[in-house]
Amino acid sequence: MIVMKFGGSSVESASAIARVASIVGARLHRKPVVVVSAMGKTTNRLLAIAHAAVSGDRAAARLQLRDLEKYTLAEGASANGQVEAHFRELSDLVNGLAVLGELTPRSVDAISAYGERISSLVVAELFQRHGIDAVHADARDYIVTDERHSQAAPLYAETYDRLAKLEQLAAGRVAVMGGFIGSTRAGVTSTLGRGGSDFSASIVGAGIGAEEIQIWTDVDGMLTCDPRILAGGHRVKTISFAEAAELAYFGAKVLHPSTVAPAIEKNIPVSILNSRRPDAGGTRIVAEGVPCSNTFKSIACKPDITLVHIRSMRMLMAYGFLRRIFEAFERHETPVDLIATSEVSVSVTIDNTRNLDAVAAELSQIADVTVESGQAIVCMVGENIATTPGIGARVFQSIAGINVRMVSHGASSLNLSFVVNGKDLAGAVELLHREFFATLDPEVFETPS
Ligand code: ADP
Ligand code: ASP
Ligand code: MG
Repeated sequence: MIVMKFGGSSVESASAIARVASIVGARLHRKPVVVVSAMGKTTNRLLAIAHAAVSGDRAAARLQLRDLEKYTLAEGASANGQVEAHFRELSDLVNGLAVLGELTPRSVDAISAYGERISSLVVAELFQRHGIDAVHADARDYIVTDERHSQAAPLYAETYDRLAKLEQLAAGRVAVMGGFIGSTRAGVTSTLGRGGSDFSASIVGAGIGAEEIQIWTDVDGMLTCDPRILAGGHRVKTISFAEAAELAYFGAKVLHPSTVAPAIEKNIPVSILNSRRPDAGGTRIVAEGVPCSNTFKSIACKPDITLVHIRSMRMLMAYGFLRRIFEAFERHETPVDLIATSEVSVSVTIDNTRNLDAVAAELSQIADVTVESGQAIVCMVGENIATTPGIGARVFQSIAGINVRMVSHGASSLNLSFVVNGKDLAGAVELLHREFFATLDPEVFETPS
């Protein structure tokens, strides 16, 4: 069996789904289970509707919901009226939110889950029309999660138990299920976090003992740089789980950061493929990367990062200082990405600033806190970093005109990361890409013809 996951743009229209049907149809001998994202930008649109509803703009929410329904039904599949029924439920939900005037993580999940609930029905129906014997499977019957709504984690033992029954349900047909969504033990709808359909695919792959997990998207694979920051990156043909995980964590959106964990555990290769160019080759993510003469595989970036400097005079050199700092971040559920320390100060970067005011208020009891927004992380990833003398000098020489605010190197031996001002990000990536990807190992990278 294999898992084939198709992202939002791969299922954005009837013609995109027709392409997907032909890709799946050509692989029926590998017994695919299909995982789909919400169609196009549906998740963003559902969230905008929820926000309009709670802010009291019920008319705008209704209008946007009607537009979304029109867009969805224009693709020609109603799954025997189930799609319309889902939109009626959504309409009730929107009215309820407008009355409550408040969005909780649980209600965000309830509303955003409709994207995948609907797309999986639409794709299953269109598959049938294209001659694929497809059966819809409700992901919430299989993916059991904890109760951390909007960022739920799978409860693996129960999830794998349930997924073991999927083959039986499918009975030789192609099961189509929504990614991103699950339900708690109590049966309440939950989601795995934005971009979580990749993670769903990996959980399903591990649960059914798939021989491969395929992530079908809108690029040819993992590229040597983020195409949203710099065009002209090259396809990485093969990469290790550890490298892919690092890139995903530091911004390579093509793969949700949690995707690799279940695949590593069961040693299932993951491929990234282009649903618009199915023969393009893709990227294969495997346990052991192949030897490579390039030091780096790719450059990931995280724009819109906030730097927090925490400076203590009183607790100079005191043990327990770091603990108190990280407890504050933990209490306010704020993950820290990079860290640098000096004698009296600690600097960290954070991505999620939702609770930053509370963190800063708590930390200001023990230290001076300054916050700088508008920063960016550049993360250079490759397994050869640790064994390449002088690599740091070459990296910083190549961006000599750019002010580097913070550096992190050595924590994982395959990542060299640093912080620059957001306005310098694109320039830094361009210089680094020119320096490190001008010549390419043909075993690992697609070389320009
Ligand atoms: P999907 O909807 O299929 O899940 P996403 O938009 O989540 O697709 O991920 C694909 C996008 O990831 C690409 O269109 C690209 O803009 C972005 N991306 C960021 N970094 C990289 C990278 N290193 N290689 C390829 N794509 C990347
Ligand atoms: N539809 C969800 C999102 O937009 C999940 C996904 O596409 O992976 O975040
Ligand atoms: Mg994605």
